[in-house]
Amino acid sequence: MKKHISILGSTGSIGTQALEVIAAHPDHFQVDVLSSRNNAELLAKQAMQFVPKKVVIVNPDCYNFLKEALANYPIEVLAGEASLCEVIDIPETDIVLPAMVGYSGLMPTLAAISAGKDIALANKETLVVAGELVTRLAAEKGVKIIPVDSEHSAIFQCLIGEEKNPIEKIILTASGGPFRDKDLTFIANATKAEALNHPNWCMGSKITIDSASLMNKGLEAIEAMWLFHLNPDQIEIVIHKQSVIHSLVQFCDGSIKAQLGIPDMRLPIQYALGFPRRLSSKMKRFSFVDYPVLTFDSPDIKKFRNLAIAFRVMNQGGNLPCAMNAANEIAVEAFLCEQIGFLKMSDIIEGTLDKIKFIAEPGLEDYQATDTAARKIAHTLI
Ligand code: MG
Repeated sequence: MKKHISILGSTGSIGTQALEVIAAHPDHFQVDVLSSRNNAELLAKQAMQFVPKKVVIVNPDCYNFLKEALANYPIEVLAGEASLCEVIDIPETDIVLPAMVGYSGLMPTLAAISAGKDIALANKETLVVAGELVTRLAAEKGVKIIPVDSEHSAIFQCLIGEEKNPIEKIILTASGGPFRDKDLTFIANATKAEALNHPNWCMGSKITIDSASLMNKGLEAIEAMWLFHLNPDQIEIVIHKQSVIHSLVQFCDGSIKAQLGIPDMRLPIQYALGFPRRLSSKMKRFSFVDYPVLTFDSPDIKKFRNLAIAFRVMNQGGNLPCAMNAANEIAVEAFLCEQIGFLKMSDIIEGTLDKIKFIAEPGLEDYQATDTAARKIAHTLI
């Protein structure tokens, strides 16, 4: 029996790597849905190769191109943001992989959970923005959320067989990004190309900038809090330059379990899609001899203010993580468009959090309103 998979955001970094995993295991997987925001050309190619039931191009201007390209295929072609929420309830679909970037993953993920589909979650912003709502709905619907993020995949794997054992804390490892050994003067003047030059991982541009600012680790801490039902003080961040230990769990007896491997996103993607089975892979094997030294350091939260901001909003809760995420998305976009310097991103996020109205127990409409308001405020601060 093949597992049926829908990939939202199939032309991005996670989406294309997920399709590599699927292509390597044609007996195990069948693709039901593929989607892209703007990349109709690659989406058409992917659709011709994997022949899903439906494809969605979010930008309606690209619809005609895609419709024509797939005219001879038995594939339904749809356009528009709302279509993403409509295609995930195909009865055969077993698992949905939301692999788009940022806040845009929230509504399709909620729709997939409502339709009772298991989620292979690559879009961490969904849990940052609305973790309480998303995890509550998943529990109500009996839906599994299997993390694709490498650190969370590591923790998820460490917890197999430990369901009844209390977690004392988790340790999220961070590569430290391209600026870990640079001083503030260098970081203040860092160019887009320098920030995009990640030492270990091959990822999309938004997450690569988040890795350089350590906001990615802040987002991941909030993601972990919701996924594994933790308090903020149970989450520790350790800089581990080699990105070999993907994360660790410490149990109530002081014992620590870790998951290791080469830094390659196809590993956690394959684990999430195959779960609970481990599928074989031809990927390069990790060798301790190639890594005779593994190092560990505390993060410098004075240099990387975004990490401190993320822990602050994680403790404050309510709609503040949602506001932080929105401001960060605007700030990263402005940095990538070379409108602002690297350190200005933290100023924009802090300025937005100072101005946003605090809501202690937000619902979906509050999250939507907070996202819109925070984006507006962040734009005025650029
Ligand atoms: Mg990660």
